[in-house]
Amino acid sequence: MLDTQAIEKKWQKRWDEAKIFEADADKKKKKFFGTFPYPYINAFPHIGHLYTIMRVDSFIRFKRLQGYNSLFPQGWHATGSPIITSAKRVKEREKKQVSIMKSMGITEEELSKFEKPEYWIDYFAPEFEKDLRGMGLSIDWRRNFVTTSINPHYDAFIKWQFRKLKEKNYVVKGKFPVVWCPKCNTAVSDHSRSKGEGETTQEYVLLKHKLEGSGDLLVSATLRIETILGITNVWANPDIKYVRAKVNNEIWIISKEASEKISEQDRKVEIIENISGKDLIGKKAQEFNGKKVLILPGVFCVADKGTGIVHSVPSDSPDDWIALRDLQENPTMCEKYRLDYREIEKIRAIPILDTPGYGDMPAMKLCEEYGVTSQKDKRELEEARKALYKKSFYESTMNSLYRNFLGKNLEGMRVTQAKDIIKDEMLKQGCELFFELTGAVVCRCLTSCVPRIVTDQWFMAYGDYEWKHKAHECLNQMKLYPDKVRQQFEYVLDWLRNWACTREEGLGTKLPWDDKWLIESLSDSTIYMAYYTISHLIEKIDAAKLDDEFFDYVFYGKGNLPSLSAKYGVTSDALKEMRQEFDYWYPLDYRNSGKDLVQNHLAFFIFNHVALFPKEKWPKEIGVNGWVTVDGQKMSKSLGNMIPLRDMSEKFSVDAARFTILSGGEGLDDPNWDSSFASAFRQKLEQFHEFCLENYGKGRDAHHEIDAWMESKLYQIIYDVENALNETMFRTASQLLFFEIQQAVKWYLKRSNGEPNKVLMMKIIESQLIMLSVFSPHICEEIWEKIGKKGFISTADWPKIEVKKIRKELDVSEEIIKNVLGDISSVLKLIKKEKAEKITLFVARPWKYKLFGIVKDVMKDTMNPKIIIQHVMEDESMKKHGKDISRFLPKLVGRMPQFLDSDEEELKILHNAKKFFENEFNCSIELIKASSSGHTKALAAIPGKPAILVE
Ligand SMILES: [Zn+2]
Repeated sequence: MLDTQAIEKKWQKRWDEAKIFEADADKKKKKFFGTFPYPYINAFPHIGHLYTIMRVDSFIRFKRLQGYNSLFPQGWHATGSPIITSAKRVKEREKKQVSIMKSMGITEEELSKFEKPEYWIDYFAPEFEKDLRGMGLSIDWRRNFVTTSINPHYDAFIKWQFRKLKEKNYVVKGKFPVVWCPKCNTAVSDHSRSKGEGETTQEYVLLKHKLEGSGDLLVSATLRIETILGITNVWANPDIKYVRAKVNNEIWIISKEASEKISEQDRKVEIIENISGKDLIGKKAQEFNGKKVLILPGVFCVADKGTGIVHSVPSDSPDDWIALRDLQENPTMCEKYRLDYREIEKIRAIPILDTPGYGDMPAMKLCEEYGVTSQKDKRELEEARKALYKKSFYESTMNSLYRNFLGKNLEGMRVTQAKDIIKDEMLKQGCELFFELTGAVVCRCLTSCVPRIVTDQWFMAYGDYEWKHKAHECLNQMKLYPDKVRQQFEYVLDWLRNWACTREEGLGTKLPWDDKWLIESLSDSTIYMAYYTISHLIEKIDAAKLDDEFFDYVFYGKGNLPSLSAKYGVTSDALKEMRQEFDYWYPLDYRNSGKDLVQNHLAFFIFNHVALFPKEKWPKEIGVNGWVTVDGQKMSKSLGNMIPLRDMSEKFSVDAARFTILSGGEGLDDPNWDSSFASAFRQKLEQFHEFCLENYGKGRDAHHEIDAWMESKLYQIIYDVENALNETMFRTASQLLFFEIQQAVKWYLKRSNGEPNKVLMMKIIESQLIMLSVFSPHICEEIWEKIGKKGFISTADWPKIEVKKIRKELDVSEEIIKNVLGDISSVLKLIKKEKAEKITLFVARPWKYKLFGIVKDVMKDTMNPKIIIQHVMEDESMKKHGKDISRFLPKLVGRMPQFLDSDEEELKILHNAKKFFENEFNCSIELIKASSSGHTKALAAIPGKPAILVE
């Protein structure tokens, strides 16, 4: 057995000594700069990190082979509360935390050190580096760093960033809704949650309907204020309790739950009395424009959602449409609530918007489309609602009812635009804002979070119109892997509003102008890729001296070099080098992360780059991927399947592990780690090692016909691998460059009687090694060296393709030969004959080739045998074979063999393989055209599948 661990260590050491992954600015070379989000360092890296980081390493290795000066730096994230919280829990010797520490191999004596948050960084940063080095990642380790004030240089960089943002009014203080933990008394960002990552506050408008005969206001909450002119009635649930409450200076009728939420949102609330929903039914309410509508029973109104009161817009809300229809078809129900059925019957939906494809009554149409027949079809209803909401938001326009909306002409305007205008007008009319969470959020302290309006928090103004516009501009020019994710990015950029960017507790950088605040972890991690370009050089400067002028020089080229040099106590050349490093490596070429970061980190990454850098320095490509599952199961601590990276080498070998994770999936699918595949692949790599050493440099000098096929196949695979890698389709590439080549080589050796062309075989092995080194670099280096190649394979040249040698027609002939070989074997088995005296192959009659040509064309449009036969019969020459055709053609649909254009051609191919067949079956082979034979067997021959007669 190969000592894979020794091989890994050997090559990691050699790479390190030769510094092959250390990349410096070099104007003469094209460059590629890719990054993986710096991980949070409060535990060892595990298999969950592996997939994403491998997508970066392999992409960079590929680019390096293609001749790019390639940079892959890596830093560590320590900002925020997780480390502090864990340290606290260690201090309290909390059981669960102590067992986590023990499971990481930390001893009782060491434990007390982890009471100090800083120690976590000192401990885990080197451990992370060790583990990632162990995975053979091609990282330039000179550039690694850690965040927070522990690193005063990075601290100065973040302060620069925030002062710049503030100058542009992108960091603002004000009254904003946040996700709030009542126990911690702080806003809770994504990474400080134990549940509800990505959930946020959602803005509703509260609409007030004046109850007839009193000054009380029935208050409903809506996400779709633009539909206000379509209101036909108000819904109240007869079965729930409402309250009459004094809210600031008005009397509101809302659910009790709503009154509690509302009191968290900067309002004074005093409950006067409880009232029953039943008492509201049948009364009338007056809308803002004087129109009077009925209050009807709506059992779907929920007390803890919105206000428990819903206004009804049946034209554009599937829920309202179906609820109204249910009521209109149910006179008994009307009687029950003492409603005048004739009056209910008369209520008609009011068309207000034009929705492409759905006209002016989209709710009705969508209910039909999704099969909603009553309110009981909850799932269908939800789908219809979602579909309409999205469609309406992006595509609907306001109809003529909005020609004069409070003095404004909104007719023909898109909903996206009209929405904000109507909202602003309605706020002037006394409507108010209200916030709900988009989903349940639980803080790390295990308390449920609520939306809350805070007044003294600092925010990133991601709602700023111009800023958003620029962010979109950047997105538009970006390449995304896969492009499917673009819509999600667009949605997020549109929907992001103010983002609370400071915390009172945790590790991090202090807000430069208000040091009671620390910058939170998703806000100090947006442009640090720029910091990588100088992180290994900046330490020459005393951190205490670093100020904005320094960063303005490095990033913008501003300032006077001699005076800067004097100020910072370094040479002009040292400063110039930093400027050049940034200018050369930026823009960032590729950033890759898991799909969960689209909605925060990756969006912020775009926003902050466009805010701080000129267009030519905006990031170019983003890759997004799914979440790792382990042997088909979700990865989780409780399942114990989060394999630490440090175990990979021993359990599977690093090369097999790297290959396995990348072949586990691609695109946005969740990749699966398959342990048994990894173990099997380790063996395969060993066999591959053996194969290369045995076959490299051996073989014949002469050229045989089959060599052309092999060469064509090799170039085709290289070409396909290159395309797949260019699109980060690593799974596809892995299959091609390992299994598909192996299969081809197996066939080639069989066809060459075990004696391949020497030069070609060397080319195959070298090409495969170079491609495989993207995935499994250690063993490839080892073989590369053993077969006598000079230099590292990691810095070799990507194999060159001779496009004109790719000849697809050779594939067809080999395919036919392969099939004939298989068919003969099957026949021999069937008649239980081990050895034949003679085998005759009949090549099909000429008209069948013509038939196949027609069928192949028709099959592009249909797989229906009947229609195919109809098409075929349109051809005069086919009519006389009608009977034959209708007998065998249906069997062929969808699985036609590869075939050539004529019996002549097929005969020639078989003739070339005659000797091969004779060797394989150790008997004589006769080739006959069916057209020149009277044998009944000959009738069975079809193109690509000669009939076989064994004697
Ligand atoms: Zn909390």
